[in-house]
Amino acid sequence: MKIVVCVKQVPDSAAKVVVENGKVTWGDAPLVINPWDEYAVEAALQQKEAHGGTVTAITMGGESAKDALKHALAMGADDAILISDPALSNLDTQATAQVLSAAIQKIGGVELAFFGRQAIDGDAGLVPAQTARLLDWPALTLASTIKVEGDSVRVERAIEEGRQVVTAKLPAVFSLVKDFGEPRYPSFMGIRKASRAVIPAWSLAELSISAPAAVIAWTEITNPPSREVKCDIVTGGSPEEIAEALADKILAEKVL
Ligand SMILES: Cc1cc2nc3c(=O)[nH]c(=O)nc-3n(C[C@H](O)[C@H](O)[C@H](O)COP(=O)(O)OP(=O)(O)OC[C@H]3O[C@@H](n4cnc5c(N)ncnc54)[C@H](O)[C@@H]3O)c2cc1C
Repeated sequence: MKIVVCVKQVPDSAAKVVVENGKVTWGDAPLVINPWDEYAVEAALQQKEAHGGTVTAITMGGESAKDALKHALAMGADDAILISDPALSNLDTQATAQVLSAAIQKIGGVELAFFGRQAIDGDAGLVPAQTARLLDWPALTLASTIKVEGDSVRVERAIEEGRQVVTAKLPAVFSLVKDFGEPRYPSFMGIRKASRAVIPAWSLAELSISAPAAVIAWTEITNPPSREVKCDIVTGGSPEEIAEALADKILAEKVL
C-alpha cells in the first residue's frame, strides 16, 4: 500500500507571532513540524503496520522545511520529498492544494493521503479537502478511527455533534484529529536514520505544473488590538467575606 503524509513546518506553538512592517514574524522561535501533522504521521504508520507498504512524507516549503520531514522520518516514515520553488510564495490554500495534489499524482499509485486537521499558523483547515477535490478523491476529514477493508475504508469522524461513521472507496484523503491517539515519539534509530536521509527536492518543473495563482490575497495583516488588562485584588477578613466580595464584583461587572 502506498501511503503519503503531508506535513507542514510552522513556528513553534510557544512562538510570539507579531506583524512587523506588514510581515508575519516569530522572532527566533524554532520552526517545528505542525503538531496536528504528527497525528497524520502516526495514522500513516499504523496503516503501514496493518497492511504493509510504504509511507512517504511530503512538504511544500523552503530548505528549512526538510526538518519537518526529518521528524516524520524519525517517527518511521520510509522516505520524504521536499517541494520547493522560488515561485511558490504567497500562496493561498487552494494553490497549496494544487501543488500537493500534483506531487501525490507524480508519486503515483497512492491509496491513502494523510493530513493534519489544520496548520497552527494558517489555521484554515482547508488544504485536505481542497486537495481531495483536485484529486477527485473522497475527503474523510476529522478522522478519529480508520479501518481499511480491501479497497474500502470505514472512518469515524469526530464532529461537534458527536461521532459520524462514513465509508468510502480508496484512494482517499484523510485529516486527523487528536482523538486518533498519541503520536509515537521518534526513536533513537529513527532519529539517526533521519539525520542521514537524503531528501530529494522537487521544483514546479518536476511536477510539470506552473506556479498556481492565489485566489485570495492577504492585502493587510495587522496585530490584534492590545487588550488593557486590569487586575483587582479582592480582600476580606475571611474566605467567606472574600468570596462574597468577589461575587458582588462579578455581578456588578455583569460577568454572570
Ligand atoms: C508568507 C505567507 C504569505 C501568505 N500569503 C497568503 C495569501 O496571500 N493569501 C492566502 O490566502 N494565504 C496566504 N498565506 C497562507 C497560506 O496560504 C497557508 O499557510 C497555506 O496555504 C496552508 O494553509 P494553512 O496553513 O491554513 O493549512 P491548513 O488548511 O490548516 O492545513 C491543513 C493540513 O494541510 C497540510 N498542509 C498545509 N500546508 C502544507 C504544506 N506547505 N506542505 C505540506 N502539507 C501542508 C498539513 O497536513 C496540514 O495539517 C500565506 C502564508 C505565508 C506564510
